Amino acid sequence: MEAETVVAPHFDDAVFSVAHVLLRTRATIVTVCAGAPAPGVVSDWDAECGYTEGVAAAADRAGEDLKANQISGATSVHLGLTDAAYRTRFPVRATALDLARAMPLEGPLWIPVGIGSHPDHVGSREAVLSLPRVADRLRFYADCPDACAFGWDARDTDRVENHRWQPHLDRLSIAYGPMLPHTVYLTDEQMAQKLEMVTAHASQMRGMLPNFPDLLNPHGPLRREVYWTSALVTANRPK
Ligand SMILES: [Zn+2]
Repeated sequence: MEAETVVAPHFDDAVFSVAHVLLRTRATIVTVCAGAPAPGVVSDWDAECGYTEGVAAAADRAGEDLKANQISGATSVHLGLTDAAYRTRFPVRATALDLARAMPLEGPLWIPVGIGSHPDHVGSREAVLSLPRVADRLRFYADCPDACAFGWDARDTDRVENHRWQPHLDRLSIAYGPMLPHTVYLTDEQMAQKLEMVTAHASQMRGMLPNFPDLLNPHGPLRREVYWTSALVTANRPK
């Protein structure tokens, strides 16, 4: 199986969104916002996850990532940017350079669509899109759990504005033409492994479960994974 690379804005994004990739290959997961903030501050999210210091949250989350990736055999690469709450803007160009240095040069490259409109997801996407010679490697994954927060099959207009899929798919279509959707349903065995990986991100579960009580249900929304490829790139890809 060809080596695959997943660009994850945060430590848990690859596990949530593309477990089927992690479970079929020894992927490289490049986590963009893996840096620690300055001492003495804590974001609202880290506080919801039970922390009084962002530094402690960052250290725990890096450890949880390694634990989760032991299950799939994925290689973890941690870049130094902090979460959005600890910065003012997303440094697209600097991140693109960091990614170019950190990523394997070949094989499928999975990047977030940006559903949920989180600045770290949109920024990570834009950083990859700014790189040369990656177009025919790209697969675009639905950012979970934001993508399924209103149900996988909801009409886009029934989702709150920053969770709508179409504006982000339109952005990708400008760069790469029509987007072809693909849906993956995990097997019982894959789902059990996915939930083991998700549970390894214990700090994030503390923050998320109150909002997503169905998250760890074996028949819940995480059973489905959705991604897109470019119709143009697929048509031009050598057989
Ligand atoms: Zn994220």
